[in-house]
Amino acid sequence: MKNINIAIDGPAGAGKSTIAKMVSKKLGYIYVDTGALYRTIALYITENNISDEDIENALPKAKVSLKFIDGAQRVFLGDRDVSDIIRTPEISMAASRTSAIPAVRAYLFETQQNIAKSNSVIMDGRDIGTVVLPDADVKIFLTASAEERANRRYKELAEKPDCPSYQEILDDIIKRDYQDMHRETAPLKQAEDAVLVDTTTLNLEESANEIVRIITEKIGE
Ligand code: C5P
Repeated sequence: MKNINIAIDGPAGAGKSTIAKMVSKKLGYIYVDTGALYRTIALYITENNISDEDIENALPKAKVSLKFIDGAQRVFLGDRDVSDIIRTPEISMAASRTSAIPAVRAYLFETQQNIAKSNSVIMDGRDIGTVVLPDADVKIFLTASAEERANRRYKELAEKPDCPSYQEILDDIIKRDYQDMHRETAPLKQAEDAVLVDTTTLNLEESANEIVRIITEKIGE
């Protein structure tokens, strides 16, 4: 049977990873979170104090890889599982910055394409439908208002110590959207043949169901 490739793109905080995970379980596909790859490169660059000019030469030494353990994606830097420590606000910002560097995108391009070639995947990112998998069977552009995305993130962080204020989170989201949409290489934008799903007024289950409906309608399963 032919592998099915589903591309889900959209801005930070739209719920892509949670929703894509739910959809992948419902359909039995592998969920690939490409942001984790960019975050891992950002971690490598930060930990090793690599300057922008040296990044291209340093990339092959980074040894970034994805493994799927019981269906769940883990990301490795060499032998080290860094899946959890790449989730800080500092690494989010650093990933947004380093992902604008063409050499970084070129380096990760093949990794992403190879996974999609040999598996049925739901791949989430910013340029999956436009650059990485232009021939994906289904493309979804998942979004929600910046205020609603900030609201969700604030609720998620509210119980943690040192929780940033709602305004700080909103400012961060707006800044990251701007960086992602205005970079020269592979900016975040909706592919022409992508279906827009706005989750501002939908909960997770409703969003996942809507995407499953779009996918099954398109691929006729
Ligand atoms: O999705 P996530 O927030 O983990 O992504 C972190 C950063 O990596 C994003 O802000 C974006 O700049 C970058 N990214 C990208 N292309 C992708 C996935 C993520 O540029 N396909």
